[in-house]
Parts: sequence; C-alpha cells; structure tokens
Amino acid sequence: MAGESGPGCKVDRVSEKYGLTAVDDRLRERRERGDSLRDLERVYNERVLAAAMESAGVDLPGREAATLYRLLTGDEVGPGERVNARSRLRRAGVDPATLESDFVSYQTVRTHLNDCLGLSTDRETAFGVDVARDTALKLVSRTESVTRQLIDRLRGRGAVTVAAPSVTVSVRVACSECGDEYSFSRLLDRGGCSCQSGRE
Ligand SMILES: [Zn+2]
Ligand SMILES: [Zn+2]
Repeated sequence: MAGESGPGCKVDRVSEKYGLTAVDDRLRERRERGDSLRDLERVYNERVLAAAMESAGVDLPGREAATLYRLLTGDEVGPGERVNARSRLRRAGVDPATLESDFVSYQTVRTHLNDCLGLSTDRETAFGVDVARDTALKLVSRTESVTRQLIDRLRGRGAVTVAAPSVTVSVRVACSECGDEYSFSRLLDRGGCSCQSGRE
C-alpha cells in the first residue's frame, strides 16, 4: 500500500504513480480560466489514461484520449462500445480495472484544489450543474437497477426470456423551439440548445 499513508490526496498519489508532474499547474490554470470541477475531472482522467497508454508504449494524442475516456466512462455509451474500449486497453497491456480505479471523481478534484492547492471552490457548493447532474444520474442508475431486478423476476417465472439482460436508461431533453434533442448530460455540457446561442 505504498503512498496510502503519505501526505496528499488520491490526486497526488495518482499523479505520482503516472508521473504527471505538471498537472497541478494545468489544473490551477484551467480553474482560474473558469473550468468547472467536472471539466477538471475529465481533463485529469484523460491525462491519466494517456499516461497509462504511453507507459504501455501506445501514443494516444489528446483527442484520442478524450474519445477513449468517453467510451470508458460516458453515461450515454452502450455496453458494447464500452467492452470494445476496455479490450483496446487490454490489448495495449493496460488493465482496465486498475486504470478505472485510478480515475478520480470531481469531489476528489475539489478536495485536491481546496486542501492541496489552496484554491477555493465555494461557488460550486451551492446548487448548480454538477449537483443537478449528480441528482439525475443517481435516479437513472436506480431506475436501471430496479428494471433489471424486475426483468430477473419475470425471467424467474418464465414470462420473459432474454440472455444476460443489460438495461440502459437515457434521459433526453428536446428544445421546443427548434426540435433538437440532446442527452441530459450533453445539454448541461454545452450549456443550452444551439438555436439559443447568443440569447440571454
Ligand atoms: Zn491533493
Ligand atoms: Zn433549439
């Protein structure tokens, strides 16, 4: 358990493990430019992913790291795509479970900014995009697990036959003005419908 008892948080331990020496400066700069904790979570984890692949001898340019990260963690990614993404890691010699356990949450990023870098994140403790996202995603995963249980009960009675069912709930939001539709997460990421840009 090297590093478990030393000073610093999970971010510090993971940075050290993957040799991310300049990452604190990047986090600080991005935070000062207005990136949200969710943005920083994603940016940080993409760097961890790129570093893991690099140490396995695979060069992963920024955009590819972003795509692969989304396939591994995105809530709108189907199970098949995720399996493929994890196989890609395995083929490179990177263990997906170890890598995923090294990914940090935005709460961990917040602790790191507050306690290790001395940056305040007070303005995000109130209700906002991160809280809204968390609340909705918890409901989604609850709905998925209840649905899975219901299917299992029906299978037990022979009322439904399906092999190893996987249940995915997606929340979509449509703009009544232009009819465009977004996943809930995507709408929050982009901050509004494309037809509304430039409006107050
Ligand atoms: Zn820290
Ligand atoms: Zn619209």
